[in-house]
Amino acid sequence: MRAFEFPDVEEDEIGRLGDDLSALGERFEAALASVDDGDALDALRLTFLGRNGEITALRRSIGTLPAAERPEAGKTINEAVARLEAQLERASSALTNRELAAQLDVAIDVTFPAPPARTGSIHPLRRTLEDACDYFQRRGFAVVLGDEIETEYYNFDALNIPADHPAREGFDTFYLANGKLLRPHTSPTQIRTMQQHPPPIAIVNPGKAYRRDAVDARHSYMFSQIEGLLVAPGIHLGHLKGMLTGLCRELFGPNQAVRFRPSFFPFTEPSAEVDTTCPGCGGSGKRGDAGCKTCGGSGWIEIGGSGMVHPDVLRECNYDPERVSGWAFGLGVERIAMVRYDVDDLRVFFENDPAVLAQLA
Ligand SMILES: [Zn+2]
Repeated sequence: MRAFEFPDVEEDEIGRLGDDLSALGERFEAALASVDDGDALDALRLTFLGRNGEITALRRSIGTLPAAERPEAGKTINEAVARLEAQLERASSALTNRELAAQLDVAIDVTFPAPPARTGSIHPLRRTLEDACDYFQRRGFAVVLGDEIETEYYNFDALNIPADHPAREGFDTFYLANGKLLRPHTSPTQIRTMQQHPPPIAIVNPGKAYRRDAVDARHSYMFSQIEGLLVAPGIHLGHLKGMLTGLCRELFGPNQAVRFRPSFFPFTEPSAEVDTTCPGCGGSGKRGDAGCKTCGGSGWIEIGGSGMVHPDVLRECNYDPERVSGWAFGLGVERIAMVRYDVDDLRVFFENDPAVLAQLA
């Protein structure tokens, strides 16, 4: 055909180019057959079609042909390039399909284990408060919440702490500009509840309290309390000891004991500090050969204060101390949680490092 169309052209040159191209095409196909990933395909493309590739070399050789032959030679090379590129394109999409199919094979493997689900956990302080409230609710106590901003009357006066009473100094209270204060204990809620409800009464009131304490391993300007109050005819300290012993057994374990140490609070008479068996050493004061660090070797852990409600407090709430009596207690939730979770620095509870909280959960 070419010889017919271009009778003057030296057939040998074009014919040689055609031979070169078909040899090249065969080598290309042989190489393409062994390509099995994208990198190999790119390398093949460079070898044949790249700037220094074989096709480019052939294209350069056109310049050495007689001018009349150059268009035909260029066209022949362009057609060869188009064929090579079409083959590369087909090979490329076949590779992509093969990779997708491999991924799908994995994606529909229903026996493949799922990654573990990350779930949150209840905060140790919250857990401790909830467990304590749950214990009392099962025994008929109501849970009552109060405001964190209180008046001096509910915080001090009604609790038998008049303005000139030295005990008022011991509370290190935050006073607000409007004459109110941030409650330094949750006891105002007990007064408010008694003034609204005649006896008998059985409540626990959990919540936050605030004092002007510097932050260290055992203190913070904000802390949590849970207080309990039971007022009815014939209530005595034995009921309180039984109730707190049950609570400690629920929170710490079945072998807990509770002991009272005489103390003073303006709103109770008599008053006592409450200790329970140290869960760290079971009350022995020793861990291995060393002294128990949790209790300082005493075998006991102090968890709060308690006592029989002072008659003046009952009268302030229009309760008749001749007819009813009652006990009250206040426990430090951080203190209980520290012992329960074997944590020696309460700042852990406020820093809220997710890794630490997950460990405590
Ligand atoms: Zn101990």
